Amino acid sequence: MSTSIAVHEPPTALRLVTQAYASLLLIAFALMPAQFIAYLYFYQAPTLKFEDHLFHEIAIAVATLEGLFVTYVTWRCYLFSGEPLLRWMTLGFLGFVLIYAPHGAFTGMAHQNMWLFLLYGPASRLAMSILLFVGLLSYNRPPDDVEKRSSARAWLIWIGLFLVVDLAVALVAYSAYAGHPAVRMAMEGGALVLCALNVAVMLSRQIHSPLMVIFGISVTWFALSSLAFMVAGPWNHLWWLAHAIFAGGFFLLSFGVIQAFRTTRSFSTIYSQEELMARLAEAMADTQTALQEVQRSNRKLELVAATDPLTGAGNRRHFIECIGAEIARAKRSGAPLSLLSLDLDHFKDINDSRGHIVGDEVLCEFVRKCLEAIRPYDSVARVGGEEFMVLLPGATLDAACAVGERLRSAIQGSVFDAGNRPSIGVTISIGAAEFGRDGATLDEFLSVADKRLYRAKHEGRNCVIAA
Ligand code: GH3
Ligand code: MG
Ligand code: MG
Repeated sequence: MSTSIAVHEPPTALRLVTQAYASLLLIAFALMPAQFIAYLYFYQAPTLKFEDHLFHEIAIAVATLEGLFVTYVTWRCYLFSGEPLLRWMTLGFLGFVLIYAPHGAFTGMAHQNMWLFLLYGPASRLAMSILLFVGLLSYNRPPDDVEKRSSARAWLIWIGLFLVVDLAVALVAYSAYAGHPAVRMAMEGGALVLCALNVAVMLSRQIHSPLMVIFGISVTWFALSSLAFMVAGPWNHLWWLAHAIFAGGFFLLSFGVIQAFRTTRSFSTIYSQEELMARLAEAMADTQTALQEVQRSNRKLELVAATDPLTGAGNRRHFIECIGAEIARAKRSGAPLSLLSLDLDHFKDINDSRGHIVGDEVLCEFVRKCLEAIRPYDSVARVGGEEFMVLLPGATLDAACAVGERLRSAIQGSVFDAGNRPSIGVTISIGAAEFGRDGATLDEFLSVADKRLYRAKHEGRNCVIAA
């Protein structure tokens, strides 16, 4: 996998150009509302008004509901990850909703006290900008502990605080200063400056994880919406454009929140597509290696499970599997299949006279000599202490007898040496059988070979019996 990615890796120059293009697109998108504001500034027709109170009330009601939903989802993300940035974002959205809602509720008051209606807008944007800025300063701080996350008290205090702000805005609206343009401009300007600062800090700290890019663009749109609100007069058709710019930023930020909720529920621990691709390639390479390792150890295990540990010959279990398969093959193809049942003669005596360890060496040496005497596709299995089976696919009984005889004389003529002491004379007795001719089932086949071995023992040992 990693190699296939490496093969399709585009040249460095193209990568850099596409990266720069992507950054330019993001910057262009972030600054897009600037052209609406320029239009607003140069071409605003003061007589073109759209004053529809019901529309305004519905729009603010929808914004409030959406704001509450986004607040809730952000809060759920915070509960999960404990990220301080998410705590501040939750507060930012909550503050915005609680301070912005009266702006809709007092639409009907627009003519009695315009300021009571108007000032909640900039106040809500200022509150949200402050909280988002503080949130950014806490970016990448360690998560809050679980008790702090679920403490209702802190949230209630904040809700109280936002309601106090609502009250304060009402007091200002009824005060002598309400109509002073500085009041609205200071709030709108404050929001603008804080949002601009927010983006500046992001750029200087080089924060560019995917969700934070969304955060940065949204905050830029908030800054530009404040500028638009400063330029446009209330109810002017372009005043609505300022709302739209703010809503655009809010939609985008809420999209980021939803992405966080659907993935890591964090704003910082989220990966770009490039990172994800690299991690995927790495994980797949690891999986591949692990798989090969498992396959290797499986093969080793299979071998261990099929092998007699002392002599390296196949064990009884493996022999039964092999003979089953060979019988099936012989039945299918009609080819002959024979078997030798072997037993070392008077092996007990070797153990008694030379000791068990020498006995073990004799068994190992015996298997080596067997393997030398048979063809590569014949096999030797140790089925008992000093009892063995040799499976001879494709061999008739005569051929099996010949192999048995060759084996018997090879063993008899071999020197089983044990150090400086005199060589040990080893002989074997063999019973031979052919599948079909001496039995049509596995049990019969085996038992005929065993009976012939038994007879070989009775007839003086060191011989091959095949009838
Ligand atoms: P026979 O000619 O009748 O086969 O006589 P034998 O002595 O070979 O047969 P018996 O069945 O009386 O004895 C088999 C001996 O093989 C007894 C046992 O201690 C020995 N033996 C079985 N497994 C091992 C082993 O793994 N290592 C050693 N050294 N000896 C073993
Ligand atoms: Mg024996
Ligand atoms: Mg025996």
